[in-house]
Formats: sequence, C-alpha cells, structure tokens
Amino acid sequence: MKYIYKPNAYIIDYEKGKKVFQFDKNGEYVTKDEKLIKWMKKNKNFIKCENNVATIKCKKCGAEFTNKGDFLVHCREKHPKRK
Ligand SMILES: [Zn+2]
Repeated sequence: MKYIYKPNAYIIDYEKGKKVFQFDKNGEYVTKDEKLIKWMKKNKNFIKCENNVATIKCKKCGAEFTNKGDFLVHCREKHPKRK
C-alpha cells in the first residue's frame, strides 16, 4: 500500500504516544506490513492511499491482472487475433 500525505509529515500513534512512520520528501510512504495497513485504515483513514500493485485491465472482458505476463497469456488464450 502506498500512502500519500504531506512531505516529511509524521504519523503518530496517539494511544501509544509514539511515531509510527514518516513520509518521505515526496509525501509518500510505501508498506507491505498488513498490521500497519489495518492500523492505518482504522486510525488514519483520512490519509489518501493507493494500492501500489498496479493492475492491468483487459479492455475486451474487464478481467484484471497484477502482472503483465499473466495478462498477455490471457489475451493469447481468450482473445486470439484472427489470422
Ligand atoms: Zn480478456
């Protein structure tokens, strides 16, 4: 998950009174920590986030893929070009 907020801003856990993480100079912070992602959702829901796993959507049937290889296989199998 990628979080987008003010550059160099700190995220503080007020319950525990400690710093959780800090955004970089571009105002971005990327994590794969499931616990942190859950915590963010519960406590810092105002911070914009985006799934940093880019998805590729098939224009022909709407199926989504997380990697280009799978998408190409899908196109080849499901939507073969006419010769
Ligand atoms: Zn398709």
